[in-house]
Amino acid sequence: MNPIRTVTVVGAGTMGPGIAQVAAQAGYAVRLADSVPGAAARGFERIRKNLDGALERGKATAESREAALARLTASDDLDTAARGADLVIEAIPEKLELKRELFSRLEKILPPPSILATNTSSLSVAAIAGAVSNPERVLGMHFFNPVHLMKLVEVVTHPGTADATRDAAVAVARRMGKEPIVVKDSPGFASSRLGVVLGLEAMRMLEEGVAGAEDIDRAMTLGYNHPMGPLRLTDLVGLDVRLSIARYLHQTLRSDHYAPPAILARLVAEGKLGQKTGQGFYTWTEP
Ligand code: NAD
Repeated sequence: MNPIRTVTVVGAGTMGPGIAQVAAQAGYAVRLADSVPGAAARGFERIRKNLDGALERGKATAESREAALARLTASDDLDTAARGADLVIEAIPEKLELKRELFSRLEKILPPPSILATNTSSLSVAAIAGAVSNPERVLGMHFFNPVHLMKLVEVVTHPGTADATRDAAVAVARRMGKEPIVVKDSPGFASSRLGVVLGLEAMRMLEEGVAGAEDIDRAMTLGYNHPMGPLRLTDLVGLDVRLSIARYLHQTLRSDHYAPPAILARLVAEGKLGQKTGQGFYTWTEP
C-alpha cells in the first residue's frame, strides 16, 4: 500500500467540501471535483468561508488557513482530479447506479493500490465494490454533517475489503482528527439505521399533529440531550438524501420503521429539500 498523500473528493454538494476541508487541514494534497461546471469552485469558496470563520473564532491560525487552502484545488474534470490520487472519497448522490458508474470510471483512471472510498450513508458497499475488478481496495468512509465539526467516521468494510485498505482508511480518518469506528457492511451501517428511524418517526408525529416541528425537536434536545432535534437534522442532511436512504432501508431491511412518510415525499416533490434550498421542516435564511 502506498502512503496516502493525495486525496480526491468527488462531489461538491453538502458533504464533499467538508471532507475536502478536513483532508486539506490534515496535510493531504486535495482535489475537489464535481461534474456540474462551477460546482467544485463553489465548494472551494465554501471551504474558504469556513476557514475564515475558524480563523475568526480562534480555531485556526492565518498560517494554517493559508496552508490548507494552498493544498486544495477544484476541478470540473474528474479524470484530471483523480489521476495519481492515493485515495478517492466519493460524495455524489445516494444512488447505487450513479456510484457504480463512477467507480467503474475511476478504475480506468486509477490502478490499484489507490483506495476507492464511498461516503454512502446506507447503500451496500459490496454492491458499489462490485463495479470494479479489485474490490479489495473499496470501502466506505462515512462522514457526518457538518464534517469539520462531527467526530465520527464509519469505516465500512464489505467482505472483500483488504485489511490494508481498512487500516489505511482508519489512519486517514484519525489524521483528520476523527474517531473512526469499523462497521460491517449492512444496510444503514450503525448510524443511519438508528438515526433514520428517529427522523422518520418525528415526521409521522408531525403529520399526526402530535406537536409542531420545534416542539418535537425540543423533546429530543431537552428530554434526551441530543444536540439537535431530528427534524432540524433532516433539514441539514437534505430531505432528498433522507428520502433516498429511507426508501433503500425500507426495501433492504423490510421493516415499516423505514417507510418514508408522505410529508417527506411531498416536501421533496415540491423542491423543499431543507437548508440547501431555504425550506424544509424549517425556513432557512442562509443556505
Ligand atoms: P448532494 O446532492 O448535496 O451533492 C452531490 C454532488 O455530486 C452534487 O454537487 C452533484 O453535482 C455531484 N455529482 C453528481 N453526480 C456526479 C458524478 N458522476 N461525478 C461527479 N460529481 C457528481 O449530496 P450530499 O448530501 O453531499 O451526499 C453525498 C453522499 O454523501 C451521499 O451518498 C449521501 O448519502 C452521503 N452523506 C450525506 C450526508 C448529508 O448530511 N447530506 C451525510 C453523510 C453522508
